[in-house]
Amino acid sequence: MNDITRVIVLSQNDYQENDAIIKAFSYDYGLMSFVAKGIRKINSKNRSICMPFAISEFQFNLKESSSLQSLLNGQILVTNHKLHDDLSKYAIASLWTELLSMSLEGESEETLIHELFENTITLFKLIEESDNYSAFILFMLANFLDRTGFAPHVDSCVVCDASKVNSLSIEEGGFVCSDCQMHLHSPIFEVELLRDFRLAQKVGFDKLKDYLNYKKPHTDCVKWMIQFFEYHIGTTLKAWEFMHKWSIIEEL
Ligand SMILES: [Zn+2]
Repeated sequence: MNDITRVIVLSQNDYQENDAIIKAFSYDYGLMSFVAKGIRKINSKNRSICMPFAISEFQFNLKESSSLQSLLNGQILVTNHKLHDDLSKYAIASLWTELLSMSLEGESEETLIHELFENTITLFKLIEESDNYSAFILFMLANFLDRTGFAPHVDSCVVCDASKVNSLSIEEGGFVCSDCQMHLHSPIFEVELLRDFRLAQKVGFDKLKDYLNYKKPHTDCVKWMIQFFEYHIGTTLKAWEFMHKWSIIEEL
């Protein structure tokens, strides 16, 4: 009897001559890796089920001892092919799968896994429908920072708790007041930018659709959030580099 699990394909990497390693988000097991034999042959029957962002059912024989499973068969549930047809949408969806791979590493809490799985399906649909890319990026990063305990402090000065703020200090981890700003020599921000930065921290998946329709956040706000992320998480984002390479950022 084969094991079957519903997955969201996160990434595909070439492996040996015709094979690929598929990183997948399984509803039942969380983060999983599969070897997909012969997948790079043009007539491979498993080709479509292994495309990034596809939602598929994977058949395999679970090897508990191995971190790499062998994909046997499967069927496609949702292709999400529109995310491949547009470079910006592709980049935005890739940012999410990159963040997912990071946050699912070693994660075994069932409720969280199920919630993230369903939310990802919703998120992909919204990326198909909306081109508010800067809002997507802000939301995704804020969501990740919040989940991992690195959320920026945005409700008062992170140093002295004063309520009136005019700057962001990445090193201190949040907004700062004018006194602390002078002390820290952090850049002074426009009110609008602080507002956009703060709002992104307050949006949950339940309010995402309204947030996307509300307005386009400033591109500078995205850049500050990326800096905040890279400083506190200690890694650069491949999807962000991709956006630079293809000038997607200028279109945000
Ligand atoms: Zn202060």
